[in-house]
Amino acid sequence: MTDIRTAGSAPASSLEGSELVPLWLDNEARPAPRAAVTGERSVDLLVVGGGFTGLWTALRAVERDPGARVLLIEGDRIAEHATGRNGGFCEASLTHGESNGRSRWPDEYDSLHELGLRNLDEIEETIGRYGIDCGFVRGGVLAVATRAHEVAYLEPDEPGFLGAEAVRDLVASPTYLAGRHEADECALVDPARLAWGLAAAAESQGVQVAEHTRLVDLRREGDGLVARTDGGTIRARRAVLATNAFPSPLRRTRWSIVPVYDYVLATEPLTDEQLAAVRWDPTFGISDSGNQFHYYRITPDRRILWGGYDAVYHFGRSIDPDHDDRRETFEVLAEHFFETFPQLAGIRFSHRWSGVIDTSTRFCAFFGTAHRGRTAYAVGFTGLGVGASRFAADVMLDLLAGEDTERTRLAMVKERPLPFPPEPFAWFGISVTRWSMAREDRTGRRNLWLRTLDRLGLGFDS
Ligand SMILES: Cc1cc2nc3c(=O)[nH]c(=O)nc-3n(C[C@H](O)[C@H](O)[C@H](O)COP(=O)(O)OP(=O)(O)OC[C@H]3O[C@@H](n4cnc5c(N)ncnc54)[C@H](O)[C@@H]3O)c2cc1C
Repeated sequence: MTDIRTAGSAPASSLEGSELVPLWLDNEARPAPRAAVTGERSVDLLVVGGGFTGLWTALRAVERDPGARVLLIEGDRIAEHATGRNGGFCEASLTHGESNGRSRWPDEYDSLHELGLRNLDEIEETIGRYGIDCGFVRGGVLAVATRAHEVAYLEPDEPGFLGAEAVRDLVASPTYLAGRHEADECALVDPARLAWGLAAAAESQGVQVAEHTRLVDLRREGDGLVARTDGGTIRARRAVLATNAFPSPLRRTRWSIVPVYDYVLATEPLTDEQLAAVRWDPTFGISDSGNQFHYYRITPDRRILWGGYDAVYHFGRSIDPDHDDRRETFEVLAEHFFETFPQLAGIRFSHRWSGVIDTSTRFCAFFGTAHRGRTAYAVGFTGLGVGASRFAADVMLDLLAGEDTERTRLAMVKERPLPFPPEPFAWFGISVTRWSMAREDRTGRRNLWLRTLDRLGLGFDS
């Protein structure tokens, strides 16, 4: 078997004519921008950030407290960043997978798993209740092994393990050596349509949503908060910061996350013959099992979305539109695509894009408050926040209300991750980790650096 990471040359021609735009945002269903807020305002709850974390918070706030005056401000457009750029894998996991969650919180992992499944059920129920048309299908995810040492990760002795023949019967790829289909723990969505639907649902419940309104400063004043934006001043009793990898007004969260760019391609729509040639039921997504893994799925309009593998950190925690178009990464992704599906030779990519992930040293979101309990935040989803953002919204609302709940009692909610070091140490550490993980993918062996990180609780085992 050829290793899909080393074989062949990049079919650069497949990228010719592709547009640098997220597939999900390139849609005529995209609503017109809402007006910015200007002048002086006064609200009960100010939510900053119009991605899933902010949208779920605004909607849950009025569902929990009907009549509350809630204002959501987004500096750019709703769903413009990670929320409108992701793979649309809406997973039950709150901890970026079982092994990460179980190793960090062994005593409460079963509760976290149960809460995650309930959260996914409630997302499904909410989408149904508001009639949000976002292609939600709960077909699960197929994990595949493409290298011999990855087969063991899929637990060959447990029920549900698929050998090479069985997994290739499910999806026709010559690279698959084994698989496991977790049917209930993941749904696929069109994330932008979900976000636009959540914004409309929140508005239907009385939330005010403003775009092109950027928070510049947030401070405590009297028994409330004063937020300065690029267009005015907002007085709020409470605030939620849902700003992902972007610089937070709270210094304390800045050291705990680094922005990492993730890159994605989407093909032109597949014909009936092409779909038949891959033999893939579009209700489930697929991910392979390396540290540097690909995630891929069929979209509601029959394209294959193909992302992941080459996550890139830019020196100095840099976030810059110049990082969006990374030719070498797109070529590697295209090469791996055709190794996986050689029967699709000749198909072209119509879209290429990237987005910023808020990576934390524990690889899942962390939570906290500031301004003497008046401001709450949740960041650090590390690329798995489509589903977990709704759970995070309820955690933040619990914290602001000072409520003792099954969520706020969790060690996962109370504990904070170790911060990243300043530059140049962050860049050096991330580069060595990345190199070591790629090496482990090739050899199946964890080197001294990764084993040291494991001992410090900083290791990631995908
Ligand atoms: C390429 C890619 C693929 C991914 N794939 C998946 C996947 O398949 N499954 C999954 O679960 N997760 C995935 N993720 C992660 C997932 O998209 C996010 O965790 C999730 O959407 C939650 O995002 P968020 O709301 O926290 O952040 P965002 O969507 O980034 O929203 C934060 C918003 O805050 C705004 N903002 C920041 N600062 C300010 C300010 N000062 N004032 C006003 N507004 C401000 C930003 O403009 C932004 O719109 C992926 C991410 C990327 C980038």
